[in-house]
Amino acid sequence: MVKAIVLLSGGLDSTLAIKLMLDQGIEIEALNFSTIFCQCTSKKSGCRSESRKVAERFGIPLKVIDNNKAFFKVIKSPPHGYGRNMNPCIDCRILMLKTAGDYMKESGASFLVTGEVLGQRPMSQHRQALKLIEKETGLTGLILRPLSAQALEPTIPEKKGWVDREKLPAITGRSRKEQMNLAKMFEIKDYPCPAGGCLLTDPGFSRRLRDFLTDGELTVNEGLLLKQGRHFRIGPKARAVVGRNETENKMLLSLVREGDLIVEVKVVPGPITILRGDYSETEIKLAGSITARYADLKGDQGEVEVKEKDNQTVRQTFSVTPLTQSGIKQYLVGAASSEACCGDQGK
Ligand code: SF4
Repeated sequence: MVKAIVLLSGGLDSTLAIKLMLDQGIEIEALNFSTIFCQCTSKKSGCRSESRKVAERFGIPLKVIDNNKAFFKVIKSPPHGYGRNMNPCIDCRILMLKTAGDYMKESGASFLVTGEVLGQRPMSQHRQALKLIEKETGLTGLILRPLSAQALEPTIPEKKGWVDREKLPAITGRSRKEQMNLAKMFEIKDYPCPAGGCLLTDPGFSRRLRDFLTDGELTVNEGLLLKQGRHFRIGPKARAVVGRNETENKMLLSLVREGDLIVEVKVVPGPITILRGDYSETEIKLAGSITARYADLKGDQGEVEVKEKDNQTVRQTFSVTPLTQSGIKQYLVGAASSEACCGDQGK
């Protein structure tokens, strides 16, 4: 039996790609690339849990690859540039497909399968981009995109007769109507992650990331911090992150690391603020004023407590006037919105 490796995001397109291949008697193993910028609808573990569901549904093995480290390098300096926001889609695809290509060889598979649809994504799924990605990964002819197969040049598995091209669709463009129809036909009803979701396509998050990269190196901790709260650039090398609710406050505390300060208003309920970077007393006071702005203060002034990392040692307390709205605007760095849209790791 001929074996293929499918890039599975957990979304509808990669689910359909698997079904189309299984129907042709191809042995399938799925790969899921997990990154902290995935914004799946699944609250628990994002795309990973969605892809697990799909793998279980079809009874196929699934390997999850943590690609964060390599991805961070790509995000910092993508050779093919960014899309509309901080999404380096072409280099992201090259990275995933190269890794998948290595795994294909290791596991004795003969080709790769993705759920990509010709023309669906402006940066990475037009004809020239698909060709460029194949060339740079050294996988020309070995990437089958079943949903668009008949709209693309025949691949090696089609030429060799492992896959019957005539039985595959020719879907193109951004409309998802044909995928929905296929899903209906295959009785695939619950696809909670229809198009995935990549924070790098989000304008607010991208502004935040761009600002961060001016003086920071991406790590998992920094990436997770970027996803939380309100971000303020309060000094050339100092940032304050303010929790917006109880859940974010808890998350922020879990991300505190050596050198960070925890700033919170004493007595009245208020947010947790993490102060990170190279900060002076002026910046500590400014972080206090920002924190007080979001606290439940009745009067004009608030007493602020600044703690060291261990969350026990109070380093100092001082009184501040909450920052004005115009002050907040001056330091606030683009808020993340919920408009993230692509996440086409397997599509
Ligand atoms: S939108 Fe998709 S291809 Fe682009 S960077 Fe994000 S996961 Fe990668």
